[in-house]
Amino acid sequence: MKYITTRTENAAGVESAVAIRNGLAPDGGLYLPESIPQLTGAEIKELQQSDYAALAAKVMSLFLTDYTYGELLAAAEAAYSAEKFGGVPAPISKVGEGYFSELWHGPTCAFKDMALQVMPRLLSLALDKTGAREDAHILVATSGDTGVAALEGYKNVPRTRITVFYPANGVSDTQKRQMSTQEGENADVVAVRGDFDAAQTGVKRIFASESAAKRAAEEGCFLSSANSINWGRLVPQIVYYVHACVRLRAEGELAEGEKLDIAVPTGNFGNILAAYIAKRMGMPIGRLICASNENNVLADFINTGVYDRRRELKLTSSPSMDILVSSNAERLLFLLFGAERTRELMAALSSEGVYRLTQEELAAVRADFDAGFATETEAFGAISGLFGKYGYLCDTHTAVAASVAQRYRTGNKMLVVSTASPYKFAPAVLSALGAEVPSDGFEAIRALEELTKVKAPEPLVRLREKAVRFSRVVDPAEMEEAVFAK
Ligand SMILES: *Cc1c(COP(=O)(O)O)cnc(C)c1O
Repeated sequence: MKYITTRTENAAGVESAVAIRNGLAPDGGLYLPESIPQLTGAEIKELQQSDYAALAAKVMSLFLTDYTYGELLAAAEAAYSAEKFGGVPAPISKVGEGYFSELWHGPTCAFKDMALQVMPRLLSLALDKTGAREDAHILVATSGDTGVAALEGYKNVPRTRITVFYPANGVSDTQKRQMSTQEGENADVVAVRGDFDAAQTGVKRIFASESAAKRAAEEGCFLSSANSINWGRLVPQIVYYVHACVRLRAEGELAEGEKLDIAVPTGNFGNILAAYIAKRMGMPIGRLICASNENNVLADFINTGVYDRRRELKLTSSPSMDILVSSNAERLLFLLFGAERTRELMAALSSEGVYRLTQEELAAVRADFDAGFATETEAFGAISGLFGKYGYLCDTHTAVAASVAQRYRTGNKMLVVSTASPYKFAPAVLSALGAEVPSDGFEAIRALEELTKVKAPEPLVRLREKAVRFSRVVDPAEMEEAVFAK
């Protein structure tokens, strides 16, 4: 299986290891497989016998054909070990008539662990497979969870270094604490004055900078990415959609021929794109519901065909979705309209801040996707509603999807993707429940435990004792310097 880029027609493909090593394609586009592998009904049934790691290895092997099954199984077993995920990596909770796929039982308590525990292992293997002499210096722009999960995933992985940039005022107390206390000899963490887009644009600029490439080479490194623009992030995400369908079938919740609608709290469009690819593989998935918070660029796009980033970014209580440029939408454009049109739309986005689909193009998007957004009040209402009615506690991001999902019921069963532990955003969750919010983040965790009797995850409780290692703050213009100057 060869990988092609979203911005060049008929380009020669590369192996997946090259795509994973490179991150971004040389033409500035994103990598995608030249075709989407299929899972037959019989294969889907067979997967019922597999545990999560074996299922992950099987699904990944369909995409990463230059890796051996043994390599992928070893990577998946190490990534999804009981030590890291406490037994079941992606449990599904039945709540009322619907389901929540809880993807946050990993070491940093957010769904990005699902991909970022595997991705560094795929990259390490890619360095060997492609004969790379240089080590990888990973640059990450994060609105919170990616950075934390990437730091944990790359922690002391041989032949890698990692520098994480986060918006100084765009992440939660807990996330800030997680990053500034991060362990790992190969890790560095820098706060950027500005919002997530400033951090992401800054990182993209470094990737395009000749001087940065040169300085990295002097350190024996090349620059690479862990953002969901990297294909190595997306493959492990396809896995949990396959897993959800397989489990619901196995448990008789989803009948033969029945389809599952899926609502995804969306930021960079990586998670929901993985669901779309799982659907294209042949999984019994119906509507894909793209849920935005008040930064509703994507919801507008899917409803009107106009992607317009020319608006103020709002800081919400679901900061991992506070995004105006959702990089992975480019992959959807390519899958539906091809490279030439994608290049045209991306050029319009970069020069004018907006692009417009034709009516036919919009219809093609809407063939699979619905979209809506939840206001802060609506998301808080979903938290208190779910807890009041079912005793089910969810975080602010999941609440956005749960709220939007209610408006798009089709009669199919509905799976809401739960992307973070409620304890990661304890102050907001407390306030949604109408409780008093202590000013200290750790007190908030304790107060939420006391109120709900739901136990807080160990890694968050333990944060309190850890020493702060990183406190640098820079301007966007100083980011390149910050990568190399310690
Ligand atoms: C990253 C993140 C999202 C958004 O996922 P995308 O793949 O960027 O769309 C949603 N919720 C949480 C908790 C996240 O960390």
